[in-house]
Amino acid sequence: MSLVSADRLRTPGAAPGRTCGDCTACCTLLAITELHKPMRRACDHVGRDGCRIHPTRPASCRLFHCVWLRGALGDDDRTRPDHLGVMVDHFVERATGEAHTLAFELWPGAFASPEARAVLDALAQQGPVALAWRDGRWSAWPDDEAP
Ligand code: SF4
Ligand code: SF4
Repeated sequence: MSLVSADRLRTPGAAPGRTCGDCTACCTLLAITELHKPMRRACDHVGRDGCRIHPTRPASCRLFHCVWLRGALGDDDRTRPDHLGVMVDHFVERATGEAHTLAFELWPGAFASPEARAVLDALAQQGPVALAWRDGRWSAWPDDEAP
């Protein structure tokens, strides 16, 4: 059985019963237009226990569910972004219907772990995967720059 659930990957929204727990990875990794927050900068509102403005957080935050939160990467916390070092987004462009899978590296070397490589390999069976490296580079998985 694949490590990646294709159905869950393509189903926006958190899997039943699944919550972010201690993870706040996307609060640093993602650009939040409403807050003028760029990619890879910690949000001014993120605290040790998560979002300090949770009830009034912007729509971009409300609508984002990484593929781990969707339940697409197995049943446990080992592939949760703050544990794996990799946060994965998947979305379909409205205009073209084209599906995109983006994997963000949380810390240098995270893409090189066997666990991360297994996730990237399983995602690649579903379609192209773009890698956003910790140092700002982008590439495709697998490619010559990959670990
Ligand atoms: S990266 Fe995923 S699990 Fe972590 S806080 Fe964001 S949505 Fe939740
Ligand atoms: S507003 Fe809250 S949920 Fe949104 S990025 Fe900031 S800390 Fe995270």
